[in-house]
Amino acid sequence: MTATPLENLVIIGSGPAGWSAATYAARAQLEPLVFEGAITEQNRMSGTLPLGQLALTSEVENYAGFPAGDLGAFLASALPESRCMMMPPHEGHGVTGPELMELMRQQAVNFGTRIVTDDIVKVDFSSRPFMLFPADGGRIAARCVIVATGARANWLGLSSEEQYKNRGVSACAVCDGALPRFRNKPLVVVGGGDSAVEEATYLTKFASTVHLVHRRRELRASKIMAQRAFDNPKITIEYDSALAEVLGDDSGVTGVRLSSTAGGPDRTLPVAGVFLAIGHTPNTAFLDGQLQLTEKNYIVWTQHFRTATSVEGVFAAGDVADDYYRQAISAAGTGCMSALDAERWLGHAGH
Ligand code: NAP
Repeated sequence: MTATPLENLVIIGSGPAGWSAATYAARAQLEPLVFEGAITEQNRMSGTLPLGQLALTSEVENYAGFPAGDLGAFLASALPESRCMMMPPHEGHGVTGPELMELMRQQAVNFGTRIVTDDIVKVDFSSRPFMLFPADGGRIAARCVIVATGARANWLGLSSEEQYKNRGVSACAVCDGALPRFRNKPLVVVGGGDSAVEEATYLTKFASTVHLVHRRRELRASKIMAQRAFDNPKITIEYDSALAEVLGDDSGVTGVRLSSTAGGPDRTLPVAGVFLAIGHTPNTAFLDGQLQLTEKNYIVWTQHFRTATSVEGVFAAGDVADDYYRQAISAAGTGCMSALDAERWLGHAGH
């Protein structure tokens, strides 16, 4: 029987939190092993491929340190040719999500991070060392674990929504709202919660008008947020309405067909963009209840301003434990914190 390899620190996840944690941990000589996720059709369909949600976006204009400019030569010098070739060509406009993630991954590799391109599908945190079970079989023993598996935006599941993703359909107004295709154009936001109102309000900076499409007669958003939508002359609330189809052509989204949830007829609206704000789902199913989760299944940070979880020696970073900020830069920040927390914990445990 082959012995189970014992790792000092395993990081599960490969978004900004995972790679920032890996870079800090590798520089601290913790020899981290990252499970970056598997490249499978199932992961593609559910939005959980390696490199996380940022790999699904286009330009990233709000990650500090990447002003608009031509990164072409830098990317070619920083990344191996094989990884450069997997990305769309650089178009000279600052950094894109996939480029940013490749750069973060490479930075972690440069300091000695080892990477396995597979999912962890099961964990056993009930005894030490912890046991992790990759999808392709076998098992890994680990003294310390950082969970950075992120969250995925919820989608309606329409085929037209899939067809126009990144061509006018987005689940992140802060990421994509300022793109030229949306400037001075009518847009749709789907959802009735705080996120939907926040996204609609944010989009009014760029759009000519924003239709907030909500399936009921009353918003779920908090009173103060809802009032913001009522008071904004650029926001029209389309109550009792559901997005039935995204309409478009070769250039991208040109409109939407709305169905009525109150028995009225369908109608169409000409719009240049559709933003989904119907909630997120954290990628925590594989934990099978072994860490304390919130009622929405996010990992609970059990100590104030620390990344500790309910199991000592297991830390969490990024969107998997954060349903509030959900930004690349805040995920990278908590990734850094988790590596420092892990380093200190391993040190106290004598490793
Ligand atoms: P949420 O509160 O769960 O709201 C999701 C919205 O999407 C609901 O209005 C829901 O409709 C709608 N929805 C869900 N599935 C749908 C579907 N299949 N088709 C159509 N509509 C659908 O999620 P959230 O807005 O992302 O907020 C998450 C948490 O973060 C909340 O606790 C919120 O207060 C907080 N947050 C706070 C702020 C802030 O304070 N600035 C900003 C953003 C988020 P129903 O109402 O009919 O269920």
